[in-house]
Amino acid sequence: SSSGSMIVVSNRLPFVLQRNAEGKLVRKASAGGLVTAVAPVVINGSGLWVGWPGLHLANPNEPIPESDPDDITPTAGLRSEKVVAVQIDPVVFDSYYNGCCNATFWPLFHSMPDRATFKREHWHNYTTANKEFANCTMKALTSLPRRTGNDVPLIWIHDYHLMLAANWVRQGAEEEGIMCKLGFFLHIPFPPWDIFRLFPWGDEILQGMLACDMVGFHITDYCLNFVDCCQRNLGCRVDRKNLLVEHGGRSVRVRPLPIGIPFERFVELSEKAPKVLSTNQKIVLGVDRLDYTKGLVHRLLAFEKLLENHPQHKENVSLLQISVPSRTDVKEYQELKEEMDQLVGRINGKFTTPNWSPIRYIYGCVSQDELAAFYRDSAVGLVTPLRDGMNLVAKEFVACQINTPPGVLIVSPFAGAGETMHEALICNPYEINDASEVIHRALTMPEDERILRMNYLRRREKLNDVNYWTKSFLSAMGSLLTQEDHDD
Ligand code: UDP
Repeated sequence: SSSGSMIVVSNRLPFVLQRNAEGKLVRKASAGGLVTAVAPVVINGSGLWVGWPGLHLANPNEPIPESDPDDITPTAGLRSEKVVAVQIDPVVFDSYYNGCCNATFWPLFHSMPDRATFKREHWHNYTTANKEFANCTMKALTSLPRRTGNDVPLIWIHDYHLMLAANWVRQGAEEEGIMCKLGFFLHIPFPPWDIFRLFPWGDEILQGMLACDMVGFHITDYCLNFVDCCQRNLGCRVDRKNLLVEHGGRSVRVRPLPIGIPFERFVELSEKAPKVLSTNQKIVLGVDRLDYTKGLVHRLLAFEKLLENHPQHKENVSLLQISVPSRTDVKEYQELKEEMDQLVGRINGKFTTPNWSPIRYIYGCVSQDELAAFYRDSAVGLVTPLRDGMNLVAKEFVACQINTPPGVLIVSPFAGAGETMHEALICNPYEINDASEVIHRALTMPEDERILRMNYLRRREKLNDVNYWTKSFLSAMGSLLTQEDHDD
């Protein structure tokens, strides 16, 4: 089929480079849903992937190894000639990534400004890093065969790490006379203007994003926040009904594109996963990176309140909480780890009996094969972030609910998932007592109500899976990529 090509630009490549015992570079696959959905577009079309390989190379010209012959992950087909590994000075990278991305934009965009630091030096290094990603993207763009007419390459830039990059790509492409279309997707929330304005260099962020032809967010609220910021900070003319922003003589499309999961993959995983949970107690399940946006402390307190207010759950219900170590270099995350360890200890000390503990706490990463069994065999999925762009765990939980009767999903209204998964029980994590009542309601919900709610939830996630999301993004870009190029 005749197809345009796509250049994907993300902070991380879809695999990580490591040195093996002999000092040879090898790939380590990472298979998130996003990679699974986007990799085929790059592999099957004449596309390229630009990103950091997870390693600082002493010799930047060291060739990227091919994937292992026995690799069966979706990126196995991603030949090295299709990969541009961005190299950035380690000191600049640390300041860009740990400083600006994770200590400034992460808390600010999750509307937690008190946790954000604003350092000019971090911002400077963010700019430098984004310029380097843009340079590499230009290298990728100029290496592609020239196209004519509307059949131009698409450049798809991902997430809060790269909000400036489009600026220099558009400039570079114009200078070189290369046609291309630029799209951006933000995987985290976009905050309201009153929060966004706290960032001292916010105008540059908006201009960077507006260098694209299309800007996508998970939900309409984030779109409207962005449109609002463009109008109030930059004085752009905007159309809220059609979600358009005028900038630099162009009209930029803004679109809500809620991301989905590889639904069928999770169904299959849950069909073949062996039983691992003992069946004499009901499990309330939490699965999160250990991050202050996830509402973990509030969740434990709500579970404690449940045991106090409804003692019939003692010895019958346990909270299984999986907390994945995350950003362990950042102080806020180390402090949260301490707080959680103490709280789990206090609550378990208070309620544990010889045959039962209220909280089973895993500080570590679990494979998705094993997660599928947890999702499938839990009575309640408890997803209560204080703020979350989407939250894929909520979606994976419903995909794995293949038992009859199924369990119950609880979501926070402050997650993108809470905005779209209407048949879940909604629970405000800040209201501890109320949250404990919602958990009680979930544990005592009649079977027919559970079946009805879960049927609707599963139908929606099956239809709006991650492949659907990729297609929606491409059609929002007005892409000419044909269907075959992104169906695997
Ligand atoms: N996950 C995993 N192992 C774990 C815990 C989580 O593989 O032990 C995966 C989970 O399946 C999901 C992702 O991590 O796909 C978390 O995505 P989510 O959107 O919920 O939160 P994020 O970490 O992106 O903020």
